Amino acid sequence: MSAHPGHNRKPLSHVDRSCDKREDLLPSGSEFTMEELRQITEHLLRFSPDALIVVDDADRIRFANETVAELFGHRPENLIGKPLDTLIPERLRAHHGKHTASYARNPNNREMGARIADLFAVRADGSEFPAGIRLAPFRIGGKLFVAAAIRDTTERRMINDELVAAQHEAERANRAKSRFLATASHDLRQPMQTIRLLNSALMKIVPQVEARELLYQQSQAIESMTRLLNALLDISRLESGAIEPVSVDVPLAETFEELRSEFSSVAASRKVDLHVELPPFVVSTDRTLLYQLLQNLLGNALKYTDRGWVRLKCWSDANGINIAVEDSGIGIPADKLERIFDEYYQVDTHGTKRMGVGLGLAIVKEVARLLGFSVKIFSKVGHGTQALLHIPRRYTAARAAPKIESAPVQTVDPLARKARLILVEDNDGVRLATELFLKLEGHETRSAATLAEAERLLDGLQPGDIVIADYHLDDKNTGLDMLMRLRERLGYDVPGVVLSGDLPSVLRSIKTPVPACRFLSKPVDTAALIDAITELSALSGDQARGAA
Ligand code: ADP
Repeated sequence: MSAHPGHNRKPLSHVDRSCDKREDLLPSGSEFTMEELRQITEHLLRFSPDALIVVDDADRIRFANETVAELFGHRPENLIGKPLDTLIPERLRAHHGKHTASYARNPNNREMGARIADLFAVRADGSEFPAGIRLAPFRIGGKLFVAAAIRDTTERRMINDELVAAQHEAERANRAKSRFLATASHDLRQPMQTIRLLNSALMKIVPQVEARELLYQQSQAIESMTRLLNALLDISRLESGAIEPVSVDVPLAETFEELRSEFSSVAASRKVDLHVELPPFVVSTDRTLLYQLLQNLLGNALKYTDRGWVRLKCWSDANGINIAVEDSGIGIPADKLERIFDEYYQVDTHGTKRMGVGLGLAIVKEVARLLGFSVKIFSKVGHGTQALLHIPRRYTAARAAPKIESAPVQTVDPLARKARLILVEDNDGVRLATELFLKLEGHETRSAATLAEAERLLDGLQPGDIVIADYHLDDKNTGLDMLMRLRERLGYDVPGVVLSGDLPSVLRSIKTPVPACRFLSKPVDTAALIDAITELSALSGDQARGAA
């Protein structure tokens, strides 16, 4: 084949284009004569915007046009008969050989190399440039030829590199923002805890009705700030990539039972029927993250349902397990559904905005992504909402779920002695406020700021006493370690409450359940703290009766 296409007088109809199904090569309705069109075609072939070469089935160059001279610095006629490797940097030749072999098995029109970063060509002077190459195969007399259009992509590559760098920078900045938010919201929880406890303490001692009303308003504001802080901490931790799911076998019945017990009082206070069906399935996943996900969906269902019911149900099909959280609440307008998973997005239906912070579903989406699940929301205004969580088959565990007995209702003897408490908390503000609050609740309370002080107090521990400890005590010890050491020394399960600003991580680090121990999130909900103390007192009463 000649380097000058004009010398090749073979009519096009002799070319077997079985690799290329396009029939019409010449545009119909053209204003040019056939001779003019021939000249245009010849010109285009010689001086095409991209360098053109044709390679035979032995990887030899059979044709090169004038643009090749510009791009590679080789005279086209000098390339004819030369191996294709002449245009490929030595370091890439072996790799390229594999590509051409596989291309010959399935020749088709396509761009070479999915990632432009991989493709380089070499000029006559030995310098390299990144290349974009488009291939088009054709046959002449049954023999395979491949035409390649080659261009220098240096500029495109630079733009691409800049875009990649900008994207990395944006991701880095986003992670930095998430880390900042995580730290800030975590650190704000200590003073928040103090304020919350002091507010509860004041509510106990202030007799004037007007003052109590103000304190009540204040407690509402504290609650909404706490909700915001918790949600901010959750979403920023998830987004900063700090959370790695730890998979264990999770019997769904246990998770559902815990959810029922957490939400039953809210449902009762809102006069909404809460139906929870306990499923027989076991899922291999991160227990705490799954709980957090369902907690957000159930929380929303109850928040946006004024009357009727909320249902948590579960079923399996060929693709895996489905969990539905359904409600008969206000529903979500169809045109808003698309955005409800966005951060801080809220639908304001009759002032519902103030009930949340717009992060619940963003957390759900992020957790579902981390766990490999998918979540969809279906809704009809005025009829209700269904959140559907799909757990793919690969996460279903073979073990059958143990049967869950509903927890017996604890009956508390109102005349029983209030438990004595030992409080271990290193933050002065939180310790003083907690101690004041617990004393006002009628508990004899002693407190320690350090582990050494705590050890002295714990020497005087009596059966029935309850230990309340912060999880992060110092660099080496956690409140839980302290409790476990105490239990070993005394030979019985000393009841304990462990408080943590990062409850999900703490729960995830615990391998086996800890009996007679309650874990609460900081800033602690004062009602939850009193509930935990009451429950543990009843338990240690049972222990004492059992021992007698
Ligand atoms: P919020 O903190 O406002 O509840 P979410 O991210 O959890 O934020 O939810 C986003 C919006 O989606 C909410 O403002 C609410 O309008 C709507 N929404 C979520 N779940 C429900 C539901 N079960 N019923 C009605 N509306 C819901």
